[in-house]
Amino acid sequence: MPEGQPGPVIFAAGTLMPVSSPPIRDGAVLVEDGRIKSIGPLFEVGRKNPDAEVHFFPNYAMIPGAVNAHAHLGFRRKDRPEGGTFSGWLGKLIERLPEKEAWTAEAARDSAREAVEAGTTYMAESSPYGECLPQLAESGMAGTVFAEFFPHEIGTPEEAVEFIVGKARELQKGLPERVHASISVHSTYTVDPESSCLAAQMTRELGWRLAIHLSESPEEVEFVRYGTGGLADIFGSNEWGGVGTSPVRYARDVELLAPETIAAHLATIVSEEDIEILAKTGVAAAHCPRSNDYLGCGVSPVPRMLERGIRVGMGTDGLWSSPSMNLFEETLFAVDLHGMDGVTGLSLATLGGARVLGIEGETGTIDVGKRADLALVEISPREEDPGRDVLEAAAGGGVILTVVGGDVIYNRLGV
Ligand SMILES: [Zn+2]
Repeated sequence: MPEGQPGPVIFAAGTLMPVSSPPIRDGAVLVEDGRIKSIGPLFEVGRKNPDAEVHFFPNYAMIPGAVNAHAHLGFRRKDRPEGGTFSGWLGKLIERLPEKEAWTAEAARDSAREAVEAGTTYMAESSPYGECLPQLAESGMAGTVFAEFFPHEIGTPEEAVEFIVGKARELQKGLPERVHASISVHSTYTVDPESSCLAAQMTRELGWRLAIHLSESPEEVEFVRYGTGGLADIFGSNEWGGVGTSPVRYARDVELLAPETIAAHLATIVSEEDIEILAKTGVAAAHCPRSNDYLGCGVSPVPRMLERGIRVGMGTDGLWSSPSMNLFEETLFAVDLHGMDGVTGLSLATLGGARVLGIEGETGTIDVGKRADLALVEISPREEDPGRDVLEAAAGGGVILTVVGGDVIYNRLGV
């Protein structure tokens, strides 16, 4: 198997599913310098490139790697707080933060490994002050760490934003070519309006992406609208809750919503008016249905958002609110939840995430010129709904090879 070797390599499979175009039987991808140089039937690509090393997997499907649009690496499956209500879960999570410090790095390493072994090639990760960047960087995946900041721990809004932007710049030093650092405004209830607005202005000026959690829970809706409820109880009475609007409207009013912004969840009471705001501002959505289910948060109106042209990608969230870091498993859950076909699901898990992150020119489909970010799945999909077959296989542990920029970062076959 190639390990960053210079010569051309052909990866071929019984079914090649580029996502941007129909499946190709016995399809091949020619990879050189980490990028896709050619795709087509193996006999053609092979004939034109006789010097290339060929790896052909006749009984497998090759798909673009998963692009996880919203994840947290620093959690583990063990001792996760009980779900049911978001504020109950968050309260317990906060209580356990001091003991969590001892195992966060190990959890991040394990979570990243699990994502890689499930065919993930790009991950948008959010962690406090970017603490999980080292584990993302060493995983072999491409990705962005969004450093969350909590202004009350730092100082004035100006000081807080200056600090976190400086922190992200520091994190950006010495990273692998395709690993980046940016910032996250954690939520409407942990970051004050002024800091939110300043952070959004800064990221726009710098051309960075901005990650936020938005309209995630009934408690958030109550907090923003009335300034009361479980989140007000946790964070104490505060001066900005109770503005009388939906979280989406509030986020627009503090200028958080823009094409560079990735809003995770949008699970609770997202109205038609909210969807209109999301569409008009061009904000992108990261859909994490299993986390929403576990925390009693509701169902995000994904089909309606897609109809309105809103970019939607999939996110696993972290292991304290979600059963796995397998984005294809997350997507299969979404497909069943919304009654979507498998091809739409596969597209959400790959191209959808890439569009959310503004990297669709680089990854998300198998197309000439893009990075060779690939996953090989143990399945010969049927013609009726090949996307569904592939999602089911990948969700069930069927990924056997993960390739990022032409480098094999996971190889279960060991060949
Ligand atoms: Zn999250």
